[in-house]
Amino acid sequence: MLQKKLVVLGGGESGIGAAILGKLKGFDVFLSDRSPISDKYREVLLRENINFEEGFHTESLILDADEVVKSPGIPDKAPIIKALAAKGISIISEIEFASRYTKAKLIAITGSNGKTTTSLLTYHLLREANLNVGLAGNIGESFAWQIAEKNFDYYVLEISSFQLDNIVNFHPNISVILNITPDHLDRYNYDFQNYVDSKFNIIRNQTENDDFIYFSDSEVIISELLKRTVLPKKWAISLKDTITEGGYLDNQKLVSQREGEHYEQDFSELPIKGPHNAVNALASILVAQSVGLSHEVIKSGLLTFINAPHRLEQVAVVDGVTFVNDSKATNVDSVFYALGSFEQPIVLIAGGVDKGNDYSQIEELVKKKVKALIILTPDFKKLKEYFGEIVPQIYVTEDVQDAVNQAQRWSVAGDIVLLSPACASFDLFKNYEDRGEKFKQAVKNLIS
Ligand code: ADP
Repeated sequence: MLQKKLVVLGGGESGIGAAILGKLKGFDVFLSDRSPISDKYREVLLRENINFEEGFHTESLILDADEVVKSPGIPDKAPIIKALAAKGISIISEIEFASRYTKAKLIAITGSNGKTTTSLLTYHLLREANLNVGLAGNIGESFAWQIAEKNFDYYVLEISSFQLDNIVNFHPNISVILNITPDHLDRYNYDFQNYVDSKFNIIRNQTENDDFIYFSDSEVIISELLKRTVLPKKWAISLKDTITEGGYLDNQKLVSQREGEHYEQDFSELPIKGPHNAVNALASILVAQSVGLSHEVIKSGLLTFINAPHRLEQVAVVDGVTFVNDSKATNVDSVFYALGSFEQPIVLIAGGVDKGNDYSQIEELVKKKVKALIILTPDFKKLKEYFGEIVPQIYVTEDVQDAVNQAQRWSVAGDIVLLSPACASFDLFKNYEDRGEKFKQAVKNLIS
């Protein structure tokens, strides 16, 4: 039989995983990356004997594909994708490809914010129950790579909208939509509905036997549900309403109800704080209940969870001032929740690469809580103009140590200094991790 030609576009974590799985499943695999491939992945390709090119795309080879797995980083408007689409060649995402080759139960988690926290917490709960579970998607080792080399019974998948753009049959047993707020609109023709549709792809292949967990305080999610036929069983999460089938917050108590089963947990005992983390925790609890975990296991998992860094991470208390690193807050919605997580006055450090931000969502909270704003970016104009009349003190800098020093000068014991930028990081930093690490170092320098 003639071998099918699989072309993988993009030589990052997901692309290499797809190439390895493709080869294992008998495809004639060719990987192409327009940029240089990192040494680590090049070595894998050479070792696995997979044909590849880097630094350019050879169109004739790519257009010869029977099917293409596209890296989530490549936009639809890239010329090579347009050429493939014009030829009618099937373009799928790595999660679509990988999911064809597993019978594991799939738990897929999406949302504009909270994916990583909720995926890590859910994974932690399932591990606490000694289930044979993998963690994949946007985190760690790619899904396809794990399908090729491991044999898990469950997967917790952190799924971005870009992965959901190119699915056909991807079918999670449990899906979660944490929230949908404007983000990445440059990839969706600046049409929010396109982004919403992409997120809702997560339930597209679900049936009556599956579960769908969602945040019902989100008007966007609710109005979308009214427009659609939704087959899976629905479990709502709310911070303001009492929910009979789903989860809610009752005076700082997390309450989750599912098919007559009632679980309660004091939220203040959890290591993760803030209203957004109540939503994330409730989503994880509902998944855990759906999988059949005992209350004891859920409770011990919730209490022992350690979140990934750069998400409302407490760095240090210096002279009574608490410094918090929320470098992962790269959009306005996450800053909204960060500000809502503290009762104390806040010195806010924000700014970076603006993705078309609308600051009206945080205007009231800033007015109420932010005593000083430090803008950390060369591109400070928009933030300064927006908040100039609202915040009593504003300082602009391009140096993170200078920002931290100024924050210290403006704060008194009991205040919070919060790095929560609302913007991407690549004006002054390599990525959000780099920004967070440099902030943490700058705070440590205050002590030494
Ligand atoms: P993601 O993987 O979707 O980017 P993270 O868990 O890494 O989500 O969190 C990203 C940012 O969003 C952090 O600043 C975090 O404090 C904030 N955040 C986390 N969960 C939520 C939520 N449910 N709603 C709004 N913001 C959130």
